[in-house]
Amino acid sequence: MADVQMGETETFAFQAEINQLLSLIINTFYSNKEIFLRELISNASDALDKIRFESLTDKSKLDAQPELFIRLVPDKANKTLSIIDSGIGMTKADLVNNLGTIARSGTKEFMEALQAGADVSMIGQFGVGFYSAYLVAEKVIVTTKHNDDEQYIWESQAGGSFTVTRDTAGEQLGRGTKITLYLKEDQINKQKPIWLRKPEEITKEEYASFYKSLTNDWEEHLAVKHFSVEGQLEFKAILFVPKRAPFDLFDTRKKMNNIKLYVRRVFIMDNCEEIIPEYLSFVKGVVDSDDLPLNISREMLQQNKILKVIRKNLVKKCLEMFSEIAENKEDYYKFYEAFSKNLKLGIHEDSQNRAKLADLLRYHSTKSGEEMTSLKDYVTRMKEGQKEIYYITGESKKAVENSPFLERLKKKGYEVLFMVDAIDEYAVGQLKEYDGKKLVSATKEGLQLEETEEEKKKKEEKKAAFESLCKTMKEILGDKVEKVVVSDRIVDSPCCLVTGEYGWSANMERIMKAQALRDSSMGSYMSSKKTMEINPENGIMEELRKRAEADKNDKSVKDLVLLLFETALLTSGFSLEDPNTFAGRIHRMLKLGLSIDEDEAGGDDSDMPALEEEGNEESKMEEVD
Ligand code: ADP
Repeated sequence: MADVQMGETETFAFQAEINQLLSLIINTFYSNKEIFLRELISNASDALDKIRFESLTDKSKLDAQPELFIRLVPDKANKTLSIIDSGIGMTKADLVNNLGTIARSGTKEFMEALQAGADVSMIGQFGVGFYSAYLVAEKVIVTTKHNDDEQYIWESQAGGSFTVTRDTAGEQLGRGTKITLYLKEDQINKQKPIWLRKPEEITKEEYASFYKSLTNDWEEHLAVKHFSVEGQLEFKAILFVPKRAPFDLFDTRKKMNNIKLYVRRVFIMDNCEEIIPEYLSFVKGVVDSDDLPLNISREMLQQNKILKVIRKNLVKKCLEMFSEIAENKEDYYKFYEAFSKNLKLGIHEDSQNRAKLADLLRYHSTKSGEEMTSLKDYVTRMKEGQKEIYYITGESKKAVENSPFLERLKKKGYEVLFMVDAIDEYAVGQLKEYDGKKLVSATKEGLQLEETEEEKKKKEEKKAAFESLCKTMKEILGDKVEKVVVSDRIVDSPCCLVTGEYGWSANMERIMKAQALRDSSMGSYMSSKKTMEINPENGIMEELRKRAEADKNDKSVKDLVLLLFETALLTSGFSLEDPNTFAGRIHRMLKLGLSIDEDEAGGDDSDMPALEEEGNEESKMEEVD
C-alpha cells in the first residue's frame, strides 16, 4: 500500500483499554468468529443511514457517490475480505477518534461482561463492534472518504498502535468506507458447517462431537434430526435430544433455550426464544435461515413471520424425532423418564399439536404390569361396548392401584390408566379425548358404565331402597358433601367421595394445597363439590340402612356416618381437615372392640374428642351395640 500513498504516515497508540480489548479479542478462543461480519455490515448500514438522512435536506451530499450500497468482496488469492459501503465515511479526525484513541464506556464494560461470562457475540451492544474484525483478521485496513475531508487510510495489526495516512493515489471511493480484512491462517469457513452437509455423509461420531461442542454435554445425544426445509422459505437445521434432563429444567428464572440461530451461516444469537416453544426448550441445535435479514434484532424477531414458519416446522420435526425414538423401547424409556413432563406441558399449551403429543404419552395401568402403555395400545385393548378411556389421578402408583374407585371398572374388565404425575391433572384437563374417545376420570362424576337390563333393574330397586338413607346421610353430613347417592363404581368398599366432572379431583386439591403462592380464594370455589357415593351391596351400608329406618335420630347412625365420611376422605385421596377428631372416633371404636369401659380405662377423655362434632353431653357410642 505504501507505494500508492502520497501523504505522510502518522502513528497513534491505541487508548489503553482499547488495547486490552484488542489483545483479548485476538487471544480469545471463540468458535463463532463469523459474528464480525454482522458487526461490520451493521456499521456500514448505519453509515448509509447517516448519509441518507443528510441528503434529505441537502441533495448534493450524494453527488460524490449517488448510489447507496454495501458490497462484500472476497479476494481468494490474497486471502482478504473487503466490506465496502458508500455511507457517510469518516474524516481523519473521526478515524483517529472512533477507531482507536477515544475509549467508550462500553470498552471496559464489555471486558467486564466477558469475564462475568457474557458471550463475545454481544460485542455490538457495547459500542465496540468494529474491533471484532480482529477475531478473524491479523491486519485491518480502513480506507474512508467523508464529504468534508480527503480520503484516508487507517491501518493496524493491533499490537498497540495504528497508522493514518492520507490516500491520494489509491482507488478513490468518492464517498464511503472500505474495510479490508487480512484473514488469519485458520481461516473461518475452512470447513463447511456440519448442517450444510448431506446427512447421509455425516457419521454418528461427527454428530456426537458437534453435539458435544454445541452443548458442553459430556454424554452423546440420544437422538438427532438433521433436515432442510425448501420452498417458499428455506432453512437448515440440526436438532438434538440429550440423554438426560438438566437438573434445572423447569427453573423459570432461567430461560432455557438451546437453539442457536444463524442467518446464511452467520451466527446471530443463542437462546432465540421465539424459535421454539417453551415445552421443547430441552431440544438443542442450530437453525440456519436463508430468509431472515442479517441485522435482525430481538424485537424484530417477535413479530417476524418467517420465524413463525420456522418455529412451526421445528415443532413438527421435534415430534417426528420423538416418535422415531419411540421405535426403540429402551431409548424411549430414557427419553420419557427425562422429558415426559415437557410432553405433558405441551399437551397443556400447544393445542395444535395436542393429538400428536398424546400419541407420545405412556402410562402404567391396571393391565400394563411393569411396562407402560400408550393411549393407542389402550384403545386396541378396549372391551366390547367400552366407549371411553378411564383414568385415575393420584399421588403414586401405589396410592391409586387399589383405590375403591377402580372396583367396578376392574370387575367389568375395563383398563384404567394411572396418572400419577402432578402435571397429568393439567394435561388431561386439556386433552379431554383421544381418538374420538372421551377420557373419563374414575374419581369424578360422569362415570357411566354400560349396564344390562337386569343390572339396571336391580340398581333402580337398590336406589329406591336406599333413598331414605341417602337423605339421612346428607342431613348428617350437611355442607361437607353436595349430595349422597347410590354408587355405580364401587363393589367392595362401603362408600367413596367423588368430585364434580369439571372441578378439581382430590389429587388436584392436594397439588393446589401444596402450592405455597396459590390464591386461596380459588380453592373453595373449585374444590367444594364432593358427592358421597354409597355401595348398597356392602354390609355396613345395609346395617346402617336398617338402623336409620328404625330410628332416624339414632345417635349411632350419626357417628357411623361421620366416621364413614372421614374414612372415605382418606381412601378417595383427600386429606383430613381435623385428624384428631377422626383419631378420637377410631380410638372409641377400638375401646368398644376391646370391650374397655370408658371409666375403667381411666380416661377423662381429654384426648378423645367427642364422637359428634356438635358434642352432645353424653357419649352415644355405647348405643352402637
Ligand atoms: P458502534 O458502531 O457501536 O458505535 P464500532 O466500534 O462498531 O461501534 O464503531 C465505532 C465508530 O466508528 C462508529 O460509531 C462510527 O462512527 C465509526 N464507523 C465504524 N464503521 C464505519 C463505517 N463503515 N462508516 C462510517 N463510520 C464508521
